[in-house]
Amino acid sequence: MSYPAGRARQGGPPATPEDAIRQVTLACRILARHGQEDLTLGHASVRGPDGPTIWIKRKGRALRDVRAEDVIGIALDDPASHLTPGAHLETIMHLETYRARPDVGAVIHTHPVHSIALGATRGGLELLSHDGLLFPDGVPVFDGTAGLVTTPAEGQGVAAALGAGRAVLLRNHGILAAGPDISWAVLTALTLERAARIQYIARTLGQTVPIPRETAHELSVGKYREEFAEEYWQDWCGMLDSPP
Ligand SMILES: [Zn+2]
Repeated sequence: MSYPAGRARQGGPPATPEDAIRQVTLACRILARHGQEDLTLGHASVRGPDGPTIWIKRKGRALRDVRAEDVIGIALDDPASHLTPGAHLETIMHLETYRARPDVGAVIHTHPVHSIALGATRGGLELLSHDGLLFPDGVPVFDGTAGLVTTPAEGQGVAAALGAGRAVLLRNHGILAAGPDISWAVLTALTLERAARIQYIARTLGQTVPIPRETAHELSVGKYREEFAEEYWQDWCGMLDSPP
């Protein structure tokens, strides 16, 4: 997919640290706008253009209020960097995901209610809607701890559970979504929560009829495309009442 000359892919890999910081602020506000705020918890991060620096929301600020000064740079090649002053306790989840997955350019951790409820069950995600098509192989569950993920070993456990996938349900806790860039990471976090909500609604109505997995794989390719991720990103940004 190509974009008009002179027009950067706004939700794509950042060209400068300032771009990365702006993407993090926008992602946090978009997540809040779509119901994924939980007190001052949850965070988004973007891999900076220089590789070893990750840009991530700091602790103490609600997602809806995140500004450029609330985004801090953390060195990926420093084993103690998750202890950076101001960093959320669960920053390690992001760092271990980037370390395990060179293809990942953005990571989100939030506490969306339907996804938490889904992760607290044994059945897992059913492919009941077009939202489910983003996860044709289902969504794995990390159950290494029901508490916060704060140690390198726990962070590595989350990354291992994620594997090569787009998202992982953290049992009794929340989600981690990863993407090649911020537009895909946000799309994944929002779409997983919608799929979980639809499953909740469907099960209250009757016996569910999932999309067969083979069909889901075929449909997923057409439904989720690079140009759409950019289009959605620009739409979400335009929807914000008070852009950063
Ligand atoms: Zn959490």
